[in-house]
Amino acid sequence: MPDATATAKQLLARLVAFDTVSAKSNIALIGFVEDYLAGHGIEAQRVPTADGEKASLFASIGPTDSPGLALSGHTDVVPVTGQSWDSDPFTLTERDGRLYGRGSCDMKGYLACALAMVPEFKRRRLKLPIHLAFSYDEEVGCTGVRPMIAELGKRLPLPRLVFVGEPTEMGVVDAHKGPVRWRVELTGRAAHSSMPHLGVNAIAYAGRLIGELLRMEEELKAGDQDARFDPPFTSLQVTQIEGGTASNVVPVPCWFGWEIRGLPGFDPMLLDRRLKAYALAHCLPEMRRVAPEATITIAATNQVPAYAADLPSGIVPLTLTLAGQNKTNAVSYCTEAGLFQDGGAPAIVCGPGNIAQAHTANEFLSVAELEKCLVFLGRLADWAAA
Ligand SMILES: [Zn+2]
Repeated sequence: MPDATATAKQLLARLVAFDTVSAKSNIALIGFVEDYLAGHGIEAQRVPTADGEKASLFASIGPTDSPGLALSGHTDVVPVTGQSWDSDPFTLTERDGRLYGRGSCDMKGYLACALAMVPEFKRRRLKLPIHLAFSYDEEVGCTGVRPMIAELGKRLPLPRLVFVGEPTEMGVVDAHKGPVRWRVELTGRAAHSSMPHLGVNAIAYAGRLIGELLRMEEELKAGDQDARFDPPFTSLQVTQIEGGTASNVVPVPCWFGWEIRGLPGFDPMLLDRRLKAYALAHCLPEMRRVAPEATITIAATNQVPAYAADLPSGIVPLTLTLAGQNKTNAVSYCTEAGLFQDGGAPAIVCGPGNIAQAHTANEFLSVAELEKCLVFLGRLADWAAA
């Protein structure tokens, strides 16, 4: 499909030129996509944030009386701060069969392919509609897609299947872990560090909680194993810590962050409950004997569900056929697939580009990957028209 390739490259150049780093608005890009679709007679619907600074976009091609196939991707990209690029990250640059630019691989390349195929989708007599579902704020915890998913089956049609085009080199990913992050805040009581019995040392109690987390980590390592993942168990890490105010003061504030990457089927709230119970039994009573105002709060700050493909939907064999693959993979990074599934739409992960190029300086998508994706989408359209 040489024409589709040229169109996809042009569209990718336009998409890359919008600086849609997650911290910024994606509205200019959304407006461009709306105009493009309108040029093909397709009306799209925005799901905007309350302040209108960002929006997801949902559009449908084909019949309106049957559940369709959604092509899903995020419009935001990670920052280029501190990275040294050989060309302007927001100007798509082709060198040696590679298309360099921020987001070319993760994942504006997939969006460009989906948009380039729109005229082709329109030409087919689709029996199942093909939907486009473009989100924002994926790179900051898959938060932007959630309001759009909440509208599926209401203002927006609930897709029968969702194809999440994160970079897999068009391999078929049918499972990933689910990251959950917590913030723990402790408040003690200040005292001169020469008189520690008059104070409550928040850092010391944080240490106890971290000790309990390290015991949990060891148990998880010895617990359920799934050899498809590396590492093959639910992993746990303390990721950040900060506390104290001066070198001679019993510290009042301390906070730390911890996360897990749970295997599909793992209930992260087990750990949440266990740490809270530990704090109640082994920290707070002692702290409050000295300082009734002492507190410990343990709050989950972000949770992306782990994902394992829905087998009854048939999405795995279908995607293997469309992608010309004979085996599936499990990955450690997370996507919006689990959220779509929790919203009632079985999902799979399959898209152009290599995850190793995502988020790096000189991020690129090879033209060969772009072409493979266009072939995949052509077969998808054949299937939707059959
Ligand atoms: Zn991505």
